[in-house]
Amino acid sequence: MAGLSIWEKESFFAPRDIVIAGSGLVGLWSAYFLKKKNPALSIAILERGMIPTGASTRNAGFACFGSATELIADTMTLGEDPMLELVEMRYKGLKKIRKIFGNKAISYERYGGYELISEQQGMDMDILRSNIDRLNRKMKKIVKKEKTFRLNDDKIKEFGFAGIQHLIENPMEGQLHSGKLCLALLKEVQSMGVLVLNNSPIEGFDKVSDGVLLKTHNPFIRSSGSQPAVESLSFFANQLLICTNAFARQLLPDLDVQPARGQVLVTSPIEGLPFRGSFHFDEGFYYFRDLGGRVLLGGARNKDFEGEQTYEQAVTDPIQQELERFLRDTVLPGKQFSIEQRWSGTMAMGKEKMPVVQAVDNNIFCAVRMSGMGVALAPMIGEKVAGLMR
Ligand SMILES: Cc1cc2nc3c(=O)[nH]c(=O)nc-3n(C[C@H](O)[C@H](O)[C@H](O)COP(=O)(O)OP(=O)(O)OC[C@H]3O[C@@H](n4cnc5c(N)ncnc54)[C@H](O)[C@@H]3O)c2cc1C
Repeated sequence: MAGLSIWEKESFFAPRDIVIAGSGLVGLWSAYFLKKKNPALSIAILERGMIPTGASTRNAGFACFGSATELIADTMTLGEDPMLELVEMRYKGLKKIRKIFGNKAISYERYGGYELISEQQGMDMDILRSNIDRLNRKMKKIVKKEKTFRLNDDKIKEFGFAGIQHLIENPMEGQLHSGKLCLALLKEVQSMGVLVLNNSPIEGFDKVSDGVLLKTHNPFIRSSGSQPAVESLSFFANQLLICTNAFARQLLPDLDVQPARGQVLVTSPIEGLPFRGSFHFDEGFYYFRDLGGRVLLGGARNKDFEGEQTYEQAVTDPIQQELERFLRDTVLPGKQFSIEQRWSGTMAMGKEKMPVVQAVDNNIFCAVRMSGMGVALAPMIGEKVAGLMR
């Protein structure tokens, strides 16, 4: 096998202060804030894919901080303070993203967010109103507005939805281009001197006295007969930060992190599409938005929790058919459309919704489990990581 050249050993594979596993939004924002705090740090990010291949480039691009019924449900499961802590992080995170990149570079637009309550859900109007009022009072100290959420049923007809009884509006919600955000952030950290190596999965690590010895693919492939063999390569970092989200248990098997596949589709352009904005349904299990005159729709994971608890990136007939049914029956009744694109991404879930940001060992840290709303969280998590690591 060809060995590394002395030049490669002393540059690409030189010992680092910090190696980050994963170049999704959390890995990139962590590198950004670590460098901001200490520009002298030598940091490399090792990404297993040619591009990030988890959730960050495969999501729906909602620049959101939580729909009303989801936050009400979170209050019950998490408790009020943790729910508000998450909302505050997302709200501040969105501000940070826009401040750093501006709206244009990431195609940020704000047409508001809406939550659809169906006739079938049969919610009592008085209970709904009082829940929204209570939530608004709690949100006031975060968003500095009297009413984050308000009932706006008048728009149901204008938007053309069928079978919908109530619409809860949040005018502060926006949408962005996830690919542009990841690329802008990648360029930013590279300009700060962070080395990003792609096609470099971290396959394991050994703790050594003053750091961590990381194992990744050796880029030099030896032919043995007709079969090329890939051999592993180790290199040293003082500290390892694991930002592999849904895939975290491959490196840290004891973490409470499970993969949750999210499937998405995009329609053909729809003439006279009657709505703009981002829309939530069924506690956030369904979500859709306009996208250049088309509709991007995702979710329905709650129709097959078990089947969607998978690392496999694929779309499946039952979920895609359910998404199409929802489009036909509720979102675009009577409209002509075809489906032009379908994909899936992998989220990270656990028994709790709070992200896991912690020291695992002396020199090993992790920032994972971003659930289904990590775009806004990621910069705040990156900042937290920079405070946590020496
Ligand atoms: C379909 C879908 C829709 C979503 N919609 C939204 C939305 O509209 N708004 C919102 O806020 N959030 C949304 N999310 C959630 C959001 O995208 C995630 O919370 C966020 O991107 C997580 O970022 P991350 O960096 O933690 O993880 P990831 O983006 O998954 O990054 C982890 C990276 O680690 C890499 N990796 C894995 N194992 C290894 C290894 N051993 N070595 C090296 N690299 C490794 C992976 O290739 C990946 O690039 C959605 C997610 C999905 C799947």
